[in-house]
Amino acid sequence: MDFRTEDQDGMCKALRVRWTITPRTAPQPWIRCSGCGSLRAFRSSNKIRLNANGRKFDAWLIYKCVTCDKTWNRPILDRQNVRDIDPAVLEALQSNDPDWIRAETFNLEALRQKSRRIDEFAELDVHKQLLRDAPDWTHLEIELSVPFPTSTRLDRLLASELHVSRTQLNRLHENGLLRTNPDRADSLRRRSRSGMQIMIDVSAVADRDRLWKLRSC
Ligand SMILES: [Zn+2]
Repeated sequence: MDFRTEDQDGMCKALRVRWTITPRTAPQPWIRCSGCGSLRAFRSSNKIRLNANGRKFDAWLIYKCVTCDKTWNRPILDRQNVRDIDPAVLEALQSNDPDWIRAETFNLEALRQKSRRIDEFAELDVHKQLLRDAPDWTHLEIELSVPFPTSTRLDRLLASELHVSRTQLNRLHENGLLRTNPDRADSLRRRSRSGMQIMIDVSAVADRDRLWKLRSC
């Protein structure tokens, strides 16, 4: 479904915004802690340990037990030949590049290979950007940008940012007044993902300027 092929009247009255969602805290894997003697959550220290042995490189991202601070080294490179390492990755590792490290702390796929339990955190920062203004708007079109994976469900995100209940959102969805692209019956219960679009018909909402006001444009 492409919203832009819908009736032109509706489209002209759509206020378009982009929400960029950034989780505040990186996922924490549960690892057996030798200090505590049991499974514990570990948080990233955001520091890399790099070891060169001739042409071979080892690299680890250092995590710390949230209870006792004991370290756990998460392997990033395992005796890899310098020829086989992406030069951008090697540069990031050698310089402790904070952006590269931050992205790596959200690498759920890699974390799942090391741990069966990973805590994810709901606190988010939502940066709102106006893409297209429309006078007398009757539809709100939200495009999500989610650079790091978040476990936050779409209905929780919309409810907290639009100040409506999840029951109200479900009712709008059932009545076809809230649509998503990609469109699925359970869209509202799924993780918020990059590229997702949400179109909400707010023509029946009398005080929509107050209800749907952008707060941080
Ligand atoms: Zn510990």
